Amino acid sequence: MRILIANGMVVNADGSTRADVLVDGETIALVGRDLAAQGLRADRTIDARGRYVIPGAIDVHTHFDMPFGGTMSKDTFETGTRAAAFGGTTTIIDFANQQKGHSLREGIDAWHAKAEGNCAIDYGFHMIVADVTDAVLAEMDQVIAEGIPEFKLFTAYPGVLYSDDGAIFRAMQRATRNGALIMMHAENGIAIDVVANQNAESGHTAPWYHGASRYPVFEGEAANRVIRLAEAAGSAVYIVHLSSRDALEAVRAGRDRGTPVYAETCPQYLFLSLDDLGNGFEGAKFVCSPPLRPRDHWPELWKGLQADDLQIVATDHCPFDFHGQKEMGLGDFRRIPNGLPAVEDRLDLMHDGGVVGGRISPERWIDVCAASPARMFGLAGRKGVVAPGADADLVVYDPNRKHTISATTHHMNVDYSCYEGRTVQGGSDVVLSRGTVIVEDGRYTGTKGHGRFLKREATGAALAAQTR
Ligand SMILES: [Zn+2]
Repeated sequence: MRILIANGMVVNADGSTRADVLVDGETIALVGRDLAAQGLRADRTIDARGRYVIPGAIDVHTHFDMPFGGTMSKDTFETGTRAAAFGGTTTIIDFANQQKGHSLREGIDAWHAKAEGNCAIDYGFHMIVADVTDAVLAEMDQVIAEGIPEFKLFTAYPGVLYSDDGAIFRAMQRATRNGALIMMHAENGIAIDVVANQNAESGHTAPWYHGASRYPVFEGEAANRVIRLAEAAGSAVYIVHLSSRDALEAVRAGRDRGTPVYAETCPQYLFLSLDDLGNGFEGAKFVCSPPLRPRDHWPELWKGLQADDLQIVATDHCPFDFHGQKEMGLGDFRRIPNGLPAVEDRLDLMHDGGVVGGRISPERWIDVCAASPARMFGLAGRKGVVAPGADADLVVYDPNRKHTISATTHHMNVDYSCYEGRTVQGGSDVVLSRGTVIVEDGRYTGTKGHGRFLKREATGAALAAQTR
């Protein structure tokens, strides 16, 4: 099957050009001017006049079908990857969880079982490490060989996912030898629990106190600490879901010292604020960790994206229904499952707030949503770029079409939207995954099981070697 996408504006991270794109089978065969006029034949031609042709976006931070606080995140790999596709995302990297006291192997097997045969788009895994032991450190090398080259550790969630400084440092030392990339959830969970418990015990139990208990300085402190530990170990480090000015300052300072520290932020930290956690228990819809911040953090994070102190925008997609799941925390914010839905909305929110809002260029939008994730997570040349030889993961994107985000029309399997009623400019009209049209005219035309597991190469050593 040959598909010609004609007359569009091809937007890549390194530049935009008016060109036709020829898809042959699963990959991009040609990108060039007037391919149709030159007599090139295809089985199907899609006219992209007036629209962008962009690489399918990559979301490197999702949690599908994940246990948290006695319940499960609501999107499965089937529903979550389909919703991602509607939003122009054609690759996700999800986190396989190690349970405390169990091997990494068990976590990987469990995640393959959840995903295999169910995905609409290609997918990979990172590994969550809950328990750093000698056996687990040795197991890391094997996990990398299986195409899972990142390991996420937590300075948050004491007693559950928390690792102390020694454990983190040992994992980083291992990473300097095996080339893994260490990802960090950087918040001082021990100090946060002190404040959260004090608030709850004095009767402050509403969702707003979830945010108010997790001070920005607790994120800044933890980010600085793990960056310093990475410097001592000689490893690169990647800070996930950076939410605050305080943590950004730590990242910027590290980068200014020449440390290979990288960081992602998420749409919720650019478009939502601590105010959303107010309004009584409705605020539970916005409970995630790190929490939403006061809105004066927004311009700082945009500056971080502009200056490349933040390289990636991912979602931390982890949806729980308001009814029945978030409600577990009625009367105690500490029992509200942490997480919110976003996998479908990221590309449009970043186009609307970033490109239309005049904060970033269309090329930078593609960089933070697709190209940079591919580069940093072992998919360079294969994903995140419109170029011959790359997988034909493509989106015909209308930069002018306006639509209103709502739980009544979204495809994520969750009963509310954090962006209910918000009108955004920009939308994915046609979505291809490896040469197959999977979304068109607002309809899903793909099949579950089309998405394949992506075995990825370790990039930690290369990232560590990069100097600024
Ligand atoms: Zn997460």
